[in-house]
Amino acid sequence: MTALDQTPVTQLRGIGTQMRDKLARLRIATLQDILFHLPLRYMDRTRVSPIGSLQPNTEAVVEGEIRGSDIVIGRRRSLICKVQDNSGLITLRFFHFAAAQRHTMVVGATMRCYGEVRRGSAGLELYHPEYQILDGKQPEPLEQNLTPIYPAGDGITQHRLRTISEQTLAQLNADNLNELLPQSLTNQAQQSSLVDALRFLHRPPADAPLDQLAKGQHPAQQRLAFEELLAHHLSMLRLRHSIRQQGAPAFARDQPLSAQFLKILPFALTAAQQRVSDEACADLCQPLPMLRLLQGDVGSGKTVVAALAALQAIASGYQVAIMAPTEILAEQHRQNFEAWFTPLNIRVGWLSGKLKGKARGYQLAGIADGSTALVVGTHALFQDQVEFHNLGLTIIDEQHRFGVHQRLALREKGRRDHLTSHQLIMTATPIPRTLAMSAYADLDVSVIDELPPGRSPVNTVAIVDQRRLEVVARIRQACQAGQQAYWVCTLIEESEVLDAQAAEVTAEELALLLPELSIGLVHGRMKAGQKASVMADFKAGHIKLLVATTVIEVGVDVPNASLMVIENPERLGLAQLHQLRGRVGRGSVASHCVLLYSTPLSRQAKERITIMRQTNDGFVIAEKDLELRGPGEVLGTRQTGDVDLRIADLQRDAHLLDTVKSQAQDIISHHPELVAPLIRRWLGDRENYGQV
Ligand code: ADP
Ligand code: MG
Repeated sequence: MTALDQTPVTQLRGIGTQMRDKLARLRIATLQDILFHLPLRYMDRTRVSPIGSLQPNTEAVVEGEIRGSDIVIGRRRSLICKVQDNSGLITLRFFHFAAAQRHTMVVGATMRCYGEVRRGSAGLELYHPEYQILDGKQPEPLEQNLTPIYPAGDGITQHRLRTISEQTLAQLNADNLNELLPQSLTNQAQQSSLVDALRFLHRPPADAPLDQLAKGQHPAQQRLAFEELLAHHLSMLRLRHSIRQQGAPAFARDQPLSAQFLKILPFALTAAQQRVSDEACADLCQPLPMLRLLQGDVGSGKTVVAALAALQAIASGYQVAIMAPTEILAEQHRQNFEAWFTPLNIRVGWLSGKLKGKARGYQLAGIADGSTALVVGTHALFQDQVEFHNLGLTIIDEQHRFGVHQRLALREKGRRDHLTSHQLIMTATPIPRTLAMSAYADLDVSVIDELPPGRSPVNTVAIVDQRRLEVVARIRQACQAGQQAYWVCTLIEESEVLDAQAAEVTAEELALLLPELSIGLVHGRMKAGQKASVMADFKAGHIKLLVATTVIEVGVDVPNASLMVIENPERLGLAQLHQLRGRVGRGSVASHCVLLYSTPLSRQAKERITIMRQTNDGFVIAEKDLELRGPGEVLGTRQTGDVDLRIADLQRDAHLLDTVKSQAQDIISHHPELVAPLIRRWLGDRENYGQV
């Protein structure tokens, strides 16, 4: 018997190429896919409801006596039939009907019908119900099971999906859809078998707990979610394993270069920086590629840790690439690293998409011949023309914006003679633990859980836009006291153009209100050089107030700036607000963040603003963010492909993750033969990126 995952849907009766294509849009290609296409919800056609108890927008079976039928010419010609039981009366309404239909609806006959209850002009109505005239005949038996409602697409009716799943269920058995969880596990957790779980979910018995099913908490649902999460976790572990199969250059630690660097650094490392740096440096001594995620809240000082790792590689004669998601952030790193490394005689290179012509050629040549030891850049570092002499370490900043694929692409650049490069991935947006586990199971994690000394938490207030002038007065005060300030204009409808215009208008307006201040402007439409020079002026203190779009979201570091105004904070998500606010509170004076909002605020926006006022803790904010938005959005669109789940829900099923983790280890040690089939079942071709 052929396995269901090898059986195309066209094997089913009545499915031709047209229906095949429609199903493909629902990501259904095989009979196994049909089984994993689970109902969204269920209808109860297992019992007859009293007409008097019907609620609009529900579906029900009713039975009663026909009180009359008529064809009415309203906006549309329709056939109307009134049916009554001892609890009430309801109107059936048909738009497509044959004249003969009306004649069967004889007054006094009994009728059973099924359909959706709506509020119509004459009270409750059933639209286009399915019906049967009983007049003396035995009614068709009621359904034995709850009726599934599937996620449907264009041109596929529920009826069709039900027939298709019916046919598939009829073929389903334990031989054509293998149980892949080890028996030890299914016994211990009292889990139902895969086949039983699927049968149950497609056709639950009449007494199935609808509430539990609606919440996704039924054991049959959890059984499937567990297997899916397990498969994803195994795929991450396999990816990690295949990377670790390749060797990596081992770099000796405690090099004189590192000591020299620490000597010129104007501050001492925090205990957390020291610990995390030790973890990374220990990895780099190994002849295996490092795969480490460095988490640390904004301002926790990740850059220094990156620099120490870089020096270890450079001292051993290898090149280092540092990649950032935006030009501004990359530029910031470039300035930092030039300032730190030039005194150590290390050549720092630069590569961005905007770099063209001769300048680009010059940079590429330095990267290719190895004279550039460290290169800072944007996505441009991924491009084909970029050839490294001997890349030993890649450092990726703000990881959540790059996907696994991109991470791997950069790894490819570091492959020579069966050696691959080490990777250090830094993220300022703390990733909630649950997501970290599933999306980054291939990485070891280090956390900087301490801010450099002398920081005081940012005090956040929310002020309504009508009180704008008070806010302007605060800026004047702060700047008179020698401080600097940001005024952030938020994104308008995702349009960089409008956004830039809004920032320009605001800058002009503020210039009128604060004529004594030097005001700078930076937005995404400016040339890189222009942006850099404004940022430099702000950093040097020549500009007191910087009006900016969210381009300054990440990485910008000006310790003397102690006040930030965020206009229309209601447009931004929590993670972004936290990132922005992280630009202040970097110096020793108390910092303030003003959320200058416009009314009316949505409930969600209110909630976000409240959270921002309550806490400065990035981890708390990230957890709340996950709660409010869900995992796909938290990880960013690029990442959603990596946690593309059919049945499991990272939030709802978070409690499964610990068991998933330990079971994954168990399967690898005791049932390695199950790994590949599990991954193939749940990830299919999507796992190809694992083949490095
Ligand atoms: P992030 O983790 O957000 O990337 P940065 O690396 O940009 O943080 O560091 C933020 C600021 O803190 C920088 O100005 C940096 O020089 C400073 N800094 C980093 N580590 C320390 C430390 N141990 N003591 C004092 N200041 C530090
Ligand atoms: Mg940073």
